[in-house]
Amino acid sequence: MMRQYEEAKAACGDAILLFRMGDFYELFYEDAKTVARVLGLTLTSRDKGENPIPMAGFPFHQLDGYLAKLIRQGFRVAVCEQVEDPKLAKGLVRREIQRIVTAGTLTEDALLDPHASNYLAAICLDASRGTKPSERAGNESAGLAWVDLSTGRFEGGVFSRKSLPDQLARIGPTEVLVREDQTPMERPDSSTWTVTKLPAWQFGFDEARRLLCEQFGVRDLSGLGWEEGDALALAAAGAILAYLKETQKTSLSHITSLTPARAGHFLEIDSATRRSLELTQTMRTGGRDGTLLSVIDQTVTAMGARRVAYWLTVPLIQRTQIEARLDAVQEFVSDAKWRDQIRQQLREVFDLERLLARIATGRANPRDLKSIAQTLRQFPGIAERLQGRNSSRIQELASQFQCCDELRIELERALNDDCPINVRDGGFIRPGYDPQLDELRSLASGGKEWIAHYQAEQIESTGIPSLKVGFNSVFGYYLEVTNTHRDKIPANFIRKQTLKNAERYITPELKEYEEKVLTADEQSKQLEVEIFQKLRGAVYAQTISLQRSAAVLSELDALAGFAELAVKRNYVRPVITEEPIVEIREGRHPVLDLTMPQGEFVPNDIMIGSEHGCVLLITGPNMAGKSTYIRQVALLTLMAQLGSFVPARQATVGIADRIFARVGANDELSRGQSTFMVEMVETARILNTATPNSLIILDEIGRGTSTYDGLSLAWAIVEFLHDTVRARTLFATHYHELIELEKSLPGVKNYNVAVKEWNDDVIFLHRIVRGGADRSYGIQVARMAGVPASVNERAKDILAQLEVDHINKYGESKITPPKRKPNAPLQLTLFEWNEHPLLDRIRSFDLHTSTPLEALRTIELWQQELLGSPPQPDKPLT
Ligand code: ADP
Ligand code: MG
Repeated sequence: MMRQYEEAKAACGDAILLFRMGDFYELFYEDAKTVARVLGLTLTSRDKGENPIPMAGFPFHQLDGYLAKLIRQGFRVAVCEQVEDPKLAKGLVRREIQRIVTAGTLTEDALLDPHASNYLAAICLDASRGTKPSERAGNESAGLAWVDLSTGRFEGGVFSRKSLPDQLARIGPTEVLVREDQTPMERPDSSTWTVTKLPAWQFGFDEARRLLCEQFGVRDLSGLGWEEGDALALAAAGAILAYLKETQKTSLSHITSLTPARAGHFLEIDSATRRSLELTQTMRTGGRDGTLLSVIDQTVTAMGARRVAYWLTVPLIQRTQIEARLDAVQEFVSDAKWRDQIRQQLREVFDLERLLARIATGRANPRDLKSIAQTLRQFPGIAERLQGRNSSRIQELASQFQCCDELRIELERALNDDCPINVRDGGFIRPGYDPQLDELRSLASGGKEWIAHYQAEQIESTGIPSLKVGFNSVFGYYLEVTNTHRDKIPANFIRKQTLKNAERYITPELKEYEEKVLTADEQSKQLEVEIFQKLRGAVYAQTISLQRSAAVLSELDALAGFAELAVKRNYVRPVITEEPIVEIREGRHPVLDLTMPQGEFVPNDIMIGSEHGCVLLITGPNMAGKSTYIRQVALLTLMAQLGSFVPARQATVGIADRIFARVGANDELSRGQSTFMVEMVETARILNTATPNSLIILDEIGRGTSTYDGLSLAWAIVEFLHDTVRARTLFATHYHELIELEKSLPGVKNYNVAVKEWNDDVIFLHRIVRGGADRSYGIQVARMAGVPASVNERAKDILAQLEVDHINKYGESKITPPKRKPNAPLQLTLFEWNEHPLLDRIRSFDLHTSTPLEALRTIELWQQELLGSPPQPDKPLT
């Protein structure tokens, strides 16, 4: 048996092997030690002799629980099952690895978050180029594909290699396949996926095309929308299919298409923006509560919840599409009764997408079938309610929705109300569905009728009135005849036992019956398995129709959820325009609007773009509401492009091609990098990639460095955004000096957060008003925060002195940077400040030829030069 184990172990690579032995899964050697450690199982040993083998195990029915834990810890797990009945096996039971479970290939409800997709992604770079990050060419492309095995959604596209981190942040895979000879990107700290390296040949294009054509039953992929230039995406998709085949060892027939997801077809939101707008995770805890998703997801099914999350990864940029969704939401808003009815029916619906995936992969159980039946029961009602609606999207959904009546009727006729999880338990097929099953069951339950009937028959034919059929465990069924009637015994009675005044006989008929009874139970269960397989086959045959209907349900749920939210929170339908403007009256922050007590959130207007100016500078003290306000504008724009109503009294939203949001470095300390560097890299990226149709939110940019540095940078950035990028920009800053920019740049408008001063206190009104704030109120804020009074008093003195010094030195005026040279190129030169002469000396200092002491000495000299005191050669270094 250990040889069998060794073979299985050799076949499962680096996965942990769960080896089925009877009612247990056992682990040996290193695997046993590992799971003993991470799962807290008891480590025992096999062969207690000279070379004991470390061993651990758990009962088979706890598989899901242990799998979940192992996967969460980043392990891959091979499940090796007994593939023949131990009772029938000659010698050793045959065993096979039936599946390798990895984070990206889960299908069990118990292991999955019902509200989130579970993506397996693959990346394929152009092999003819350099593959190390340092060899990156500026516009190198990368093929990316991703599949949710638990639902069958399969997409891919070719993206710029630089945008890979953003794409992955958007998709949120749990496992990523890469070629072992390629390093597509540095892994972001925030990533939660496991990386699986595969040999290069698994990414071959020709093999990929063959696999994909075979999977979808097509001659070539152009019918699915794929083009010449998509080879890298197809190679990645092919690697995924090959990997699934290898690890799952089952049919994958629920994966019915590979959809092209092209860059530029949806609103692009990079990973930093996703994070800072808290779309799906909060910055503080990484949780879902308090995110935009948690607000806009008012769905009643898991499929609907996943649909909303999916929409958030691909917000729309085409006006017609946005309007179509808004029309549908509108219809749900204005017909409350209809909305309630649909939502009520959706509540009765199970997770059809995942049920279908389990059907296709052969992992469905009787209860899954029952769930499908119960889901189908809602279909006729839903189909009827979709008829005769106005919105074109609802009409489309109605036409895509397929009721699958025959299947529903068949399943309802076949399945009992309660169905077990384990098909071997039996008892889930209704009486009356299959005559043979009914007969077997009545046999198994003792077949009293047959016996009574047989007994009467024998009394009649033998003329022995006292003849009885009995049963004991030694002889099984017998006929008992009292000695008085011994002479009437027919020839076919075989004597088995003699009692004091009676004899017991058997007949071939009775033995045949007995055989039937004893095997009837086994047979009825076997027959149920067969019927189950037949029913499963019937569902399987409808996979495509059912998937379509599931997609309709999830979209209805998402749309009706948007409507529910709009009604409950008093949202308005946004007017969508292609003009780059945003005009909102009394807008609210969607999350705070929901979490703050009703009426406490102060609504605000926004006017940006065209004559309103394209760069709004928001100044005001800390805690006034600047960050909230600028995020609110981004979130409302995004919501509109999802096809949702927005929290406002009135809203006109110009479609954005990209939304950028960046937060000044000090808010991101936890990320552990040189945060100012990160801030500048990200800012540089915005300045280089934003278009006049983008929407940019900059929050305290420049705060990560010293005041004058930061202020100058912020200043230059605003100028560049205004002159060159010309995107709609909201710039929140506590550098109130920036308000001077309004004077020289026509597109810059100052706003500030209204503050009421009361004695020495400030009261934040959270109202955004025209004009710049002229001071920061930092000291007042510090006091409100509980900084001791003496510190505050001292700070006030210092401030007063600094202000006097400044006026003495520069006169009354605020900081006024030099005018730009009129014909200087409008290129931001972030890293081309005049260099300090010391830098050159640091560069040329030869580390290899100097001793540590010399190095220390040199650094001391540099430092003294910087600090302005003359070198003191005699002073000892310590
Ligand atoms: P700032 O960026 O100016 O420092 P924030 O936007 O972080 O200020 O807001 C600070 C706090 O003020 C928020 O946590 C919120 O509780 C409150 N706040 C902000 N805007 C509003 C508003 N419009 N209405 C009510 N409370 C608000
Ligand atoms: Mg702020």
